[in-house]
Amino acid sequence: MPDLKTVVAEIAEEMRKRPDRGQVASYIPELAGIDPDQFGIAVIDANGEVAAGGDADVPFSIQSVSKVFTLTLALGKIGDRLWRHVGREPSGSAFNSIVQLEYEQGIPRNPFINAGAIAVTDQILAGHEPREALGEILRFMHFIADDTSITIDEKVAASERRTGFRNVALANYMKSFGVLQNPVDYTLGVYFHHCSIAMSCRQLAMAGRFLAWRGKNPTTGHSVVNPERARRINAIMLTCGHYDGSGEFAYRVGLPGKSGVGGGILAIAPGMASIAVWAPGLDAVGNSHLGRIALEALTKRMGWSIFGE
Ligand code: GLN
Repeated sequence: MPDLKTVVAEIAEEMRKRPDRGQVASYIPELAGIDPDQFGIAVIDANGEVAAGGDADVPFSIQSVSKVFTLTLALGKIGDRLWRHVGREPSGSAFNSIVQLEYEQGIPRNPFINAGAIAVTDQILAGHEPREALGEILRFMHFIADDTSITIDEKVAASERRTGFRNVALANYMKSFGVLQNPVDYTLGVYFHHCSIAMSCRQLAMAGRFLAWRGKNPTTGHSVVNPERARRINAIMLTCGHYDGSGEFAYRVGLPGKSGVGGGILAIAPGMASIAVWAPGLDAVGNSHLGRIALEALTKRMGWSIFGE
């Protein structure tokens, strides 16, 4: 097998040289102002060894990558009852689309599109103050990443709230069907804040380890979920983690993955590695352009696609 550290260093260098970047998200100033020339990668293997390259230690806005963690947390709280509020099918629509909600009585197609993630956040919030729910999410991030320095970027959260008209519409529309339990403001406040968690590739790859090793962090020995749940979360990441680019991501990369408009992607090679990449420029469907290309190169060279070599 090729040497992982060499492959990661090569990929970081190749990405730095490429002329194509994609477009950084422009809906809030904090993302619009990000330097598109940054690229980071961190890969953690079964022994806990980290192979990192480029800007692997620069924190970025994880945005929708947070939806993997809120899904995990909500399943931990209410188990399979969560699936009364959200489906598990790919949407084939944009991440912030409203169209399917009308046909499905306000039940979002999956937990990774915005509507679905808002419904999941609503379940985490149930019966709590927004501040408590947010504290719970952040503590969970500290636990799974084994790192208490992870924080929320309050400036990003304020901008998300100020500009999040579409999310407000999605939440109100779901509320009209009785899908959301809490005041819409509360649920969205928590949602905007967990999207605004800032993490580096190294921290994100650390946080993803439980998904690569049957629900357990192999270094700390901490069990996060049981193996069945880890497998199922990976399945949803594979089918829904890149919105209407999920088919293309499976075709090219062949791993469960979750993207965010901050340009981050968490990808899981079960039993092999937890991987985080970050490049702020996005493709037409809102997934990291170079992030996807880097992951395609990595899985190809390491033979890690779950579909074989
Ligand atoms: N905060 C963003 C939104 O709600 C997250 C979207 C994303 O990362 N795809 O629109």
